[in-house]
Amino acid sequence: MQTKLWIDGKSVDALSGRSFPVVNPADGSTLTNVAEGGVADVDRAVEAAVKAATGPWGKMNPRERARRLFEVARLVRERLEEFALLETRNTGKPLADSRDEAGVVADCFEFYAGAVSKHHGETIPVAGGGLDFTLREPVGVCALIVPWNFPMMIAAWKMAPALACGNTVVLKPASYTPLTALLLGKVCSEAGIPDGVVNVITGPGGVVGSALAGHPGVRKISFTGETTTGAHITKVAADSIKRVSLELGGKSPNIVFDDADLDLCVEKSIWSVFSNTGQDCCARSRAIVHRKVYDKFLDKFVAATKKIVIGHPEKKGVQMGPMISAKQRDSVCKYIDAGKAEGAKLLCGGARPGGALAKGYYLTPAVFADTETRMKIVQEEIFGPVLAVLPFKTEEEAILLANDSPYGLSGSLWTRDVGRVLRVTRAMKTGVISVNTSTSVHLEAPFGGYKTSGLGRELGLKALDLYSEVKNVFISNV
Ligand code: NDP
Repeated sequence: MQTKLWIDGKSVDALSGRSFPVVNPADGSTLTNVAEGGVADVDRAVEAAVKAATGPWGKMNPRERARRLFEVARLVRERLEEFALLETRNTGKPLADSRDEAGVVADCFEFYAGAVSKHHGETIPVAGGGLDFTLREPVGVCALIVPWNFPMMIAAWKMAPALACGNTVVLKPASYTPLTALLLGKVCSEAGIPDGVVNVITGPGGVVGSALAGHPGVRKISFTGETTTGAHITKVAADSIKRVSLELGGKSPNIVFDDADLDLCVEKSIWSVFSNTGQDCCARSRAIVHRKVYDKFLDKFVAATKKIVIGHPEKKGVQMGPMISAKQRDSVCKYIDAGKAEGAKLLCGGARPGGALAKGYYLTPAVFADTETRMKIVQEEIFGPVLAVLPFKTEEEAILLANDSPYGLSGSLWTRDVGRVLRVTRAMKTGVISVNTSTSVHLEAPFGGYKTSGLGRELGLKALDLYSEVKNVFISNV
């Protein structure tokens, strides 16, 4: 297990010699201790990345750079079981999900390896004769700050396009979940990515993350996490005019019209809110359901929710593991209490399983009916397995309810009426919408939020714009 900082192609202790425990949320046991980086370690990592930015990586023949990224993908696939097990032990997500996510890490490196040679400038017909063209160049050192809910996947979403564009990176994983990030750093080295191009610094966000955001050697910050942290990072980064892209929180709507295929809708929708134990920025945590099918939807949804298999994430057949921490579970339980106090009707869930699961941070998935927009459980991101269901009568009302949120990340829509699909998707203020399904993220397509859900679009070819400068050149014909 990699437990030290990964700087300049080497595994090193924190300069302070300090470390912190990393816990398995399935039973509260300590998995290992990981080096606790500080400001001086950030300086070391950025220094290595700055040096590597002027080295061979950025100037490398694109085909060769692509080859090394393909090699990262190959090595991740070769070690897929190791990545998956490490991720499951560190996050509590079911092993099958971790295997899928490790596969996505490999897919992501392959996608951007393929993109290296397809991302180029253009010629522009300007006035005045001559030739005007653009060049795509690396930004420089990119600090990539990621959360604990999809640690290796989100790291790959940022690393792969940043590296494809010829940048060097300093990756800062969340303190709950540093293990797969450290392994990924080492795998990049094994794939032939030069020393200093990929660095991984573990340690507290308020120290390491803040230092990266303010560091003059860093030219770009890519952050995924809470909206308040994103705002803080943007302020700190402003002093040195860094480029900033943000993927933040969400409170996504799931609109169900009366002509929807209710069975399919329920089958998919339970996972659109409860997968990853609800710790998903895209979680459709507000179901907005037409009055005509409201009772039927609730009956079917609650029945399906009660069938979800909760248990130890390494056990075959388990569909829902624990939450990341006792603190996160306590926070979710407070929301459940608030929902009850504000008059919403708890139809199921919200309990801590006992017996063999008592030591882990488990919570049964909760469904609230008869909720109203003023309620905390409808307005705030809970980041846990809690669904609030609201009824509506007209299409206009459904749109108003869907948009009545400070967030705008994802949303789903269930109807067979194509005209309505066009009207409602245009009216929804969210960055990602899925129609008659719950899938919202594709490696090949842009992903990101409106309003306080973020800034910029990750994934797809659009992400390459986040990690490259455009240089315009004009050559006179005289
Ligand atoms: P946080 O914002 O607390 O942490 C995210 C990362 O930022 C962690 O690495 C953390 O380090 C670091 N960090 C914390 N404080 C600072 C700081 N002052 N300066 C710089 N970095 C800091 O979010 P969570 O980890 O709690 O993740 C959950 C949140 O992420 C949810 O709100 C969720 O919606 C959002 N999210 C958004 C996604 C999207 O794509 N829109 C995807 C996934 C999650 P440390 O762990 O050491 O505190």
